[in-house]
Amino acid sequence: MTHYWWSERVGPGFSHSYEVELLYEERTPFQHMFIFNTPFWGRALVLDGVIQLTEGDEYVYHEMMVHVPILGRDQQVRSVLIIGGADGGALREVLTHESVERVVQVELDKAVLKACRKYMPEICRGWDDPRVQLIIGDGAGYMKEAARRGEQFDVILLDSTDPIGPAISLFERPFHEDIAACLSDHGVVVRQSGLPRTMPKVMPFVMKRFEDVLPLVQVYRAPVSVYGDEMAFVAATKDGVALNNPRGDHIGKFYNPGCHRAAFELPTWWNKLIESYEDDGQIPLETINIL
Ligand code: SAM
Repeated sequence: MTHYWWSERVGPGFSHSYEVELLYEERTPFQHMFIFNTPFWGRALVLDGVIQLTEGDEYVYHEMMVHVPILGRDQQVRSVLIIGGADGGALREVLTHESVERVVQVELDKAVLKACRKYMPEICRGWDDPRVQLIIGDGAGYMKEAARRGEQFDVILLDSTDPIGPAISLFERPFHEDIAACLSDHGVVVRQSGLPRTMPKVMPFVMKRFEDVLPLVQVYRAPVSVYGDEMAFVAATKDGVALNNPRGDHIGKFYNPGCHRAAFELPTWWNKLIESYEDDGQIPLETINIL
């Protein structure tokens, strides 16, 4: 296997370098994929030049994406929709909740799913759980049809790539209308909303799109070390009830009730980013890495 140094361009004049061993590379019909082995982070998935996750710290992202919306409500969560998430980390965390009876996962790229199952099987073993329905397709198209059919979900997780490449359809206005239509009365949607430091327009843009269709929008954060900074999750609720106060005492590798509450305390500069954002409705096409 070849060892070499690979750099991820994170922002203007700023990159992260990793010593890697290439395990797999493919240009799929939708995106370019690397799967690396790295001495420090373990195995890593890279799509269109952007590190998606590593075995070393994916649990931070997946635990905070999943347990905050599920435990941030008094109501039990029975049905969950995941858009994206080919690595299965979000699915793994959803399946830890016994109240969950049904999970639909809509992933665009079969090749990424196949490679993750082969090269990163430790991240998720939940694919064969009888509660799970896996659909290969575009999340926007699925959402449109689901809204037309009157489907309802208690939690919707948007675990997609950033607004570059195939995920752009998931940042368009109609998609958010379909999301709102498919949330149950106490439903919650959460979207990974990038790194405010290197993609400063994504988080405020996502907030605006949810504010167009839902009564309460919140931001919380998680320190995903391999990204080099804290990342933003934007959450919105159908009934306008906030997510800050967790029920129960779930303890994960990262998640715990204290971290849940603290995640909603934002740095001053994030608040200023939100206040100063001028919404032109245009998707912030962050072209950090296009191979
Ligand atoms: N869970 C990872 C993490 O910890 O950051 C990152 C998310 S996951 C790898 C991103 C997934 O979104 C990819 O598998 C990609 O194929 C999928 N995706 C991108 N655009 C999509 C779309 N329009 N519909 C459904 N899935 C999409």
